[in-house]
Amino acid sequence: MHEPARYRVGAFDLAIISDGFIKLDAGAVNGLIPKVLWEPALGKENIDELNRMRMGLNCMVVRRGGDVLIVETGMGDKHGPQVREKIFPGDYGYLMGALAKLDLRPEDVTAVANTHLHADHSGWNTVRKGSEVVPAFPNARYFAQAGEYEAAMHPNERTKATYFAENFEPVMRSGQLELVTGEVEVIPGVHFMATPGHTADHASLVLSSNGETAIYTGDLVHHATQIERAAWISAFDILPLVTLESKKRFAERAIRENALIICAHESFPGAGRLVEDDGRRRFIRE
Ligand SMILES: [Zn+2]
Repeated sequence: MHEPARYRVGAFDLAIISDGFIKLDAGAVNGLIPKVLWEPALGKENIDELNRMRMGLNCMVVRRGGDVLIVETGMGDKHGPQVREKIFPGDYGYLMGALAKLDLRPEDVTAVANTHLHADHSGWNTVRKGSEVVPAFPNARYFAQAGEYEAAMHPNERTKATYFAENFEPVMRSGQLELVTGEVEVIPGVHFMATPGHTADHASLVLSSNGETAIYTGDLVHHATQIERAAWISAFDILPLVTLESKKRFAERAIRENALIICAHESFPGAGRLVEDDGRRRFIRE
């Protein structure tokens, strides 16, 4: 298990913790881009014999005063062998242990925000308790975009493999889920930023404090090379041309504000800044 990676963003204490990793088909991760281009960029050593790519499950803990916010909750630990071996192979379920390394108990968390409700982003929203599934953070307000919740509750043939109702329905039932629309504040200084494309209502999270900015991407991108190259977009995205516009807006803001970027699926901790020299964009890890 990774030790938490700590950063300071203005008055915020930020920690990146990992739920582990999943392995996804590298062709799907890279969409239209042919293997002869993505393989040298991503490194052959990062692709397994079944053409699968290792994807981190980086979650973010934001603290200031009495606020303890978790952005994204990884895969969780509720899955049977069908999910663990076929749909989302990998090694995961470590988020609560990582949280304990920050001296935090589930009861201490005051807010949870999801960029979208896919299974690899909302797994620890809930836990199994006896025969029931209940919210994992009993004292937290949970935030998700209303349109995303609608899409998750009414998946189509293409999206249903990644929306698991047990990750969000129990939170709605307990009255803890707050559905919001657009760039709403979840704790003081942390806002949703609309970044549609991966899903129609996908929203990243932005921290602003004392002139400093951090942006948690969610699945606006799936790895750092997709931050550097606007046209590299995954095949999972339901609206790829909308993703393209979201990525351009995001990259301009990230460069202008010298934002700390946290990339959900990069190798841990997935943090860095985007710089531009000679018209070429580069993601510099930190
Ligand atoms: Zn994802």
